[in-house]
Amino acid sequence: MATKVSIAEFQATALDSIPKLASLSRGTFRTHKTKKIQWRLVQLRKLYWAVEDYRPQLLAALRQDLHKADFEAIISEIDWVLKDCLFMIKHLESWAKDEKLGSPAVPPTFSLMKFRIRKEPLGTVLIIGPYNYPIQLLLAPLVGAIGAGCTAVVKPSELTPACAMVLKELIEKRLDTGAFAVVNGSIPETNALLNEKWDKIFFTGSDVVGKIVAVKAAETLTPVCLELGGKNPAFVTKNANLALAARRLMWGKTQNSGQVCMSQNYVLIDKDIVPTFIEFLKVAYKDMFPNGARASPDLARIVNPRHFNRIKKMLDNTKGTIVMGGQMDESDLFIEPTAVLVNSTDDSMIQEESFGPIFALYPVNSLDEALNIANAVHRTPLSLFSFGSKAENNRVLNEMTSGGATLNDTYFHGSVNTVPFGGVGDSGWGSYRGKASFDCFTHFRTVAETPSWADSLIRVRYMPYDWGKLRM
Ligand code: NAD
Repeated sequence: MATKVSIAEFQATALDSIPKLASLSRGTFRTHKTKKIQWRLVQLRKLYWAVEDYRPQLLAALRQDLHKADFEAIISEIDWVLKDCLFMIKHLESWAKDEKLGSPAVPPTFSLMKFRIRKEPLGTVLIIGPYNYPIQLLLAPLVGAIGAGCTAVVKPSELTPACAMVLKELIEKRLDTGAFAVVNGSIPETNALLNEKWDKIFFTGSDVVGKIVAVKAAETLTPVCLELGGKNPAFVTKNANLALAARRLMWGKTQNSGQVCMSQNYVLIDKDIVPTFIEFLKVAYKDMFPNGARASPDLARIVNPRHFNRIKKMLDNTKGTIVMGGQMDESDLFIEPTAVLVNSTDDSMIQEESFGPIFALYPVNSLDEALNIANAVHRTPLSLFSFGSKAENNRVLNEMTSGGATLNDTYFHGSVNTVPFGGVGDSGWGSYRGKASFDCFTHFRTVAETPSWADSLIRVRYMPYDWGKLRM
């Protein structure tokens, strides 16, 4: 049920205040207070309670921006972040502890020395979020940054302005204001942020903007974590449970109206089972939307007319046949979950990222052919899904890489917030979530310590060199 709450009108952050916010955050890091575990735990608890207290505003903002149903908003945005906070709070002390190194990492020759790895915060980081999961994809990396002891400036997507304003209030009112700040805005504000020196940039969004971020970061040798898009393939063979595969793949394209980076872009399916699979897709549609998708209170809408028209253009340009769905209404930003049977791998339905509720079906003669096609379309997608026998699924894993993979389902490798998630190659660099979130913002600093009394025993290193002494 939609909750009536007031949300401040979207306001971009003044450009001239951006360097000051960055400098304030850097200054706070230099006080060393963020290195104390206790300080980090307090900030994580504050974030937890802020998200809990702002639940009504967050739900209303998600409904306003994306028409996101409360059910989806709670599971994949609000409770997701709460669980992240709790997981980080629970494990932080053990993750942050120095790691002592002994045998076999330290060979006997160096056994007189002490080696350890200190887990140090990288410093002051920039987190830039996309529009599709505006709460989760901004706050989950922030949980990692706080846990690691970093200070941060975060930039929500301007395409979800209600969420951006709630996030601004929530962070600035509840967290340490010197350590954390929110910059709202679009390209000029992001460029102003990218002109600052950061200790890491964590970017989630399209590969086009990911390249802009990476180039800018390279100028100052700033490390980046890039969580980018993907033209994700699904493989369906004769050995799959077809009804299940159809239902699960449909589900993948109904969540957030398919505006999910991990969802399948196209399905490579054995040609002999295509008609049955289409029938099962229709059954799944009918089960999920007994009165049609348009009437469903659960289906999100496309974020704005630009993205609506981008998806519509893919459907206008395809030479394929719509076999399920196809309705749309710009006035309501509604696009029906739609499957298109295409006859060429050059079709825009395969070559472009749909990032919406539409996907292609392409009939293949064999798994060999499917693997050749998928590897040619995108060598390193963010996800892949395989519905086949155990041997076929293993073959798919073996012969095609991806950021993550789910067998016999859609994107569950990315739907559990405690396991590492990230792309590979041009679908992303680096990963986060669970312990990986802590690691993402941490410098693993090896420290060696040599006792003074050992000097006589390790004299051999000093000049003049003498092989004879070394062999003793
Ligand atoms: P986007 O790249 O357009 O925007 C992301 C962020 O970059 C926003 O905050 C935006 O303000 C900023 N931005 C946009 N254009 C910019 C420019 N020219 N210069 C500097 N900053 C700019 O992405 P989006 O449309 O918000 O999200 C959709 C894309 O993100 C899809 O490609 C999707 O696959 C990808 N995505 C990836 C993941 C992941 O975890 N790998 C998650 C969600 C979305």
